[in-house]
Amino acid sequence: MALIVQKYGGTSVGTAERIKNVAKRVAKWKAAGHQLVVVVSAMSGETNRLLALAKEIQADPDPRELDVVASTGEQVTIGLLAMALMDLGLKARSYTGAQVKVLTDAAFTKARIVSIDESPIRKDLAAGTVVVVAGFQGVDEDGNITTLGRGGSDTSAVAVAAALKSDECQIYTDVDGVYTTDPRVVPEARRLKTVTFEEMLEMASLGSKVLQIRAVEFAGKYKVRLRVLSSFEDEGEGTLITFEEDEKMEQAVISGIAFNRDEAKITVMGVPDRPGIAYGILGPIGEANIDVDMIIQNAGVDGMTDLSFTVHRNEYLKAMDVLNKQVKAHIKATDIRGDNKICKVSIVGVGMRTHAGIASKTFRTLAEEGINIQMISTSEIKISVVIDEKYMELAVRALHRAFGLDQPN
Ligand code: ADP
Ligand code: ASP
Ligand code: MG
Repeated sequence: MALIVQKYGGTSVGTAERIKNVAKRVAKWKAAGHQLVVVVSAMSGETNRLLALAKEIQADPDPRELDVVASTGEQVTIGLLAMALMDLGLKARSYTGAQVKVLTDAAFTKARIVSIDESPIRKDLAAGTVVVVAGFQGVDEDGNITTLGRGGSDTSAVAVAAALKSDECQIYTDVDGVYTTDPRVVPEARRLKTVTFEEMLEMASLGSKVLQIRAVEFAGKYKVRLRVLSSFEDEGEGTLITFEEDEKMEQAVISGIAFNRDEAKITVMGVPDRPGIAYGILGPIGEANIDVDMIIQNAGVDGMTDLSFTVHRNEYLKAMDVLNKQVKAHIKATDIRGDNKICKVSIVGVGMRTHAGIASKTFRTLAEEGINIQMISTSEIKISVVIDEKYMELAVRALHRAFGLDQPN
């Protein structure tokens, strides 16, 4: 007998029929003798609908009230799933985040889980009850409802799995595992049987939305055995996130390609090439609570240089405003240019540590497609480039082919 935490995403619980199918799958695992905790998302489209509704009422919704509204989608699905399970003759009980209780900090709309009180869950499991928990939501010390950021039900599931020391945390979604890249963009993408935790962390942080990054971080910290599976197919093996790099020895150097269109690039032109300039530009940006991702500074010519950096697209206008109002005159920049039509494409693989030539192959592949690279950043296991957004799919497909990711290994 194993203790298994399963999470079903929005599409998987998108209709009454699908909720009944989830119940059938849960019943099968239960019949095999396992203890089951099921974490669910809101029905697909529901969280978007709730957020849009809030914006119709208040242009810039109050964060506390926004969480009160946004968290309701999950409350509907836990009740419905518990009923569907009862209809199959199982004992089932639903819990909201506050009832469990999933204690978080007070950062509305992006709260972090602090602890989970697993005792009520354990009591139910011991009595043979299937426990259904609302994803995405928690409660802070003062009893305020909080939410964990978009895609946060993944994190709820992993946190529950960690608290219960469950044998496996299964993330059921609308694809049958983690692919070499998003299969909706590259149909030739292949499912990975395994991906290392480090690679998954990079892929999630670089834009692969199949798992929320905090879920991966949590799994790493508490060594949760994590598997991504399809809720629409009969038991495949999905993708296992492993902690053992040795298992990867025979596999490809590159595991996957991630991309995101969430960033914007800003270039501060014609600033004096002297100490304090990067601080003079990025200091006020940091003080305005704007996160900076990539940064490059060109070599100075005639004592002048340009500095470019990227920020989240949602913070692009705010960043431009800070630069124009607080920085431009102060550091004597000749111009400030912004571009929010960029994207970041990244190749990821632990094999990069032991193989040379990956960067040059990346650059050659993009050159052959006539794609201009605007920025580059690397780490031990990833290479990211910023390019014009309109070439994103072309770049991802070309790199996918160049690194043989479409070939069975
Ligand atoms: P859920 O609602 O179940 O949480 P999500 O939409 O959050 O589902 O995540 C699943 C989606 O992630 C897939 O439909 C797919 O388009 C996207 N995706 C992005 N990158 C990848 C990848 N490397 N492998 C698999 N899916 C990916
Ligand atoms: N329902 C939430 C969202 O749409 C959480 C989740 O689905 O993981 O972001
Ligand atoms: Mg998701």
